[in-house]
Amino acid sequence: MLASRYFMPTLKENPSEAQVPSHIYLIRGGFIRSLAAGIYEYLPLGFRVLKKIENIIRKRMDEAGALELLLPILTPAELWKETGRWDVYGKELFRLKDRKDADFALGPTHEETITDLVRKNVRSYKDLPLNFYQIQTKFRDEARPRYGLIRGREFIMKDGYSFDVSEEDAIKTYEVMKETYHKIFQDLKLDYLMVEADVGAIGGKFSHEFVVKVPSGEAHIVYCENCGYAANVEAAKFHHHKLPVENLKPLEKVYTPNVSSVEEVAKFLNLPTEKIVKTLIYKADDRFVAVLIRGDREVNETKLANLLKALDVRPATPEELKDLGIVEGFVGPMGLDLPIYADYSIKELYNFVVGANEKDYHYINVNLGRDVKVEEFYDLATAKEGDPCPVCKNPLKETTGLEVGHIFLLGTKYSQAMKAYFTDKDGKEKPIIMGCYGIGVSRLISAIVEQYHDDKGIIWPDVVAPFDLHILVLNVKDEKSLKAGFEIYEKAKRQGLDVLLDERDISPGSKFKDADLIGIPNRIVIGKSLNEGKVEYQRRDKVEEKQLVDLLEIDNFL
Ligand code: ATP
Ligand code: MG
Ligand code: MG
Ligand code: MG
Repeated sequence: MLASRYFMPTLKENPSEAQVPSHIYLIRGGFIRSLAAGIYEYLPLGFRVLKKIENIIRKRMDEAGALELLLPILTPAELWKETGRWDVYGKELFRLKDRKDADFALGPTHEETITDLVRKNVRSYKDLPLNFYQIQTKFRDEARPRYGLIRGREFIMKDGYSFDVSEEDAIKTYEVMKETYHKIFQDLKLDYLMVEADVGAIGGKFSHEFVVKVPSGEAHIVYCENCGYAANVEAAKFHHHKLPVENLKPLEKVYTPNVSSVEEVAKFLNLPTEKIVKTLIYKADDRFVAVLIRGDREVNETKLANLLKALDVRPATPEELKDLGIVEGFVGPMGLDLPIYADYSIKELYNFVVGANEKDYHYINVNLGRDVKVEEFYDLATAKEGDPCPVCKNPLKETTGLEVGHIFLLGTKYSQAMKAYFTDKDGKEKPIIMGCYGIGVSRLISAIVEQYHDDKGIIWPDVVAPFDLHILVLNVKDEKSLKAGFEIYEKAKRQGLDVLLDERDISPGSKFKDADLIGIPNRIVIGKSLNEGKVEYQRRDKVEEKQLVDLLEIDNFL
């Protein structure tokens, strides 16, 4: 590629809207441009990096036996209504209508779509297992799009979905995907951690996040340097800080004589039982937060209000919520929290808060449900730097990171809601066991830059660099220099390298600045030493080390 014909609009100044290195350098280096908040254009340089990342992912997914397909971005609302997510997803879901006034959404993720495909085409255990993936544009109307490609409203994801006949098989598939993710993030040369994640609102059996260590990351994780344990702070809270059982005692006063089981509550609230996914209890200081995660919002509001009245509760104030450490994004957009019935309490600690993950939607003085499992009592306050590791008791470290991948063992959440059944060997109809596996492909571009840059610009790892070799002809008015430049360019191309030849008529200083900014890993500079028949070779990651190469030996050198 000739720089004079290329489109590489580099900038000298930091763009005012950019705060983190990846955002600054991707804009300044002419990799991306912003069209609107959280919506980006991939310019030729950025597109090359994107394709390299995609192909690394594609190769590893194919190796693992996953089948690539491409699902529509436009998805009919009916599918989302079947799982309840049409109502639950909230404002993050981009919604639109067609000319006949039918509702559609731009896919933020594709569990519904792929489950629909599978239920229509899979009948028997003989048709399974299946494991699909796609690399596709996703849409999420994020509340705070920021940091360039890190949090976009339109972004590119690799999303995968597996379908197995048994939980045992599904776990095996999950393990294969986990290994595949390790290979992908190692191929991409990232310094990352795999952490236990909270299944939260998506539900399912278990989940892991892959988190790249960067200072600007929004994910908070604790990890143990001794034994390798790592979890995001929510998951660490859930799994490892149980309350002593002896603190539990039955309530003397039963507040809700009419409702005494999950089934009855569901009936009372006009809510299908299977839509109640689970109840989680969080503790903060001397209070508890009871969260009943349901799969939808179709609740009879009047009955709910009556129930809350019967429970003798009142809305929690924003100050109380702050005290409790309830923060925005805590439960996630798919979780809605509702009070359940009272049967149990914890000695002296029966003051609970229940509510949605929104301001002014909380109640305090609610009590725990009888069916709430003891294992689900976890201590919110203790997952932080210096706490004993739940595995080996060594003090935990805390760090921030960027979530680049997330895998879930979903179980039957979607297959049950959408009736994706198969006939098993025993002739019985069973729901398919699912898993889902996401990678933030466009976010990875930023994650790599966050880890590979200096104060001059990007330092691409070889595997994802937009070009392998950057040739700088410092004085293009000198015919000998220009000729040498083209000669090396042609030779390198013949050897299969991706080469960018900077033969623009601009100052050597500008050429070096651009080269440092766009970060191509190998560089050949054609300057004064050409008089001795030599060119300079340097690596972007060690610009101070220069190696003189004889032009006559360039073929071998390349
Ligand atoms: P986050 O916690 O950052 O909001 P998420 O947990 O909502 O991400 P998932 O639903 O797990 O995201 O999606 C799979 C992957 O897609 C994430 O691990 C992340 O790398 C990427 N991703 C999610 N949201 C965005 C976004 N707005 N912009 C770019 N990449 C994203
Ligand atoms: Mg999100
Ligand atoms: Mg997340
Ligand atoms: Mg996630």
